[in-house]
Amino acid sequence: MEHWLPPPAGRRIVNALTVDVDDWPVAVLGPHHDISGRVVDNTRRLLHILAWHQVRATFFVLTRVAERFPDLVRDIHRAGHEIASHGHGHELLTTLSPHGFERDVRRSIDLLTEITGERPLGYRAPAFSIVRETRWAGPILARLGFRYSSSVFPIAHPRYGISDAPRHPHRWSDCDLIECPPATLRLLGRNWPIAGGGYFRLLPGPLARWAISRVNRENLVAVLYVHPYELDVGGIASHREAGVKVPLMRHIHQALFRRRIEPRLNRLLERFSFAPLRELLAAAL
Ligand SMILES: [Zn+2]
Repeated sequence: MEHWLPPPAGRRIVNALTVDVDDWPVAVLGPHHDISGRVVDNTRRLLHILAWHQVRATFFVLTRVAERFPDLVRDIHRAGHEIASHGHGHELLTTLSPHGFERDVRRSIDLLTEITGERPLGYRAPAFSIVRETRWAGPILARLGFRYSSSVFPIAHPRYGISDAPRHPHRWSDCDLIECPPATLRLLGRNWPIAGGGYFRLLPGPLARWAISRVNRENLVAVLYVHPYELDVGGIASHREAGVKVPLMRHIHQALFRRRIEPRLNRLLERFSFAPLRELLAAAL
């Protein structure tokens, strides 16, 4: 497998911060839920934090959100961030046919192009649902004009991941698409997720920072991900009050340590360098 863009020795590695712009009920409970206005406030808060640190990121926008709140996408774009696609309806690829997937992605491309005037170059599958059985998605994405994907988690997990997929950015073997996997730590013969979401929330902060440094010492770019709703400390309770049915254990697990995310993000943004994936991949695209 082709290794990608090793930075010159001794130069500080620039990592990639990625943001999946989706609303909590749709992302976690299922695609049949409505998009609430909380996604707007949460994303604006994240934009504010990034502006404070002068960090630009890649935003994988779910276009059901873009359809309802196009001004939000315009503002992300205007702030200098990369707009990429998180698909339209957040249906897992494992529940879609190749044809249904293509329809979802085409709709997403059209909406983003209409809002920003640019075709998205990057795609992230809902819940990293490009797994062994849905590898057919790669050639479809390449045919639709995507240049990279960040959808294959190289870990063993019951719901997603391809445990023996490369940990570093690499080209797909059957199409012209670069895969930028979320960061993992190689330890005790296994790949461990350190990249974002629940892992980032639940791991102790110093351990997460040590893990990213260790990935960088391997001369690898760490691709991290965050969801705007993770900054929303009282968010799940508000969704419940608005009538969304949330199983109690889900509520407890998903709300646990949310308060940690913002200070943690601030420390990461202070300590490491970041750029949008499109820029990091520029020489390879
Ligand atoms: Zn998502």
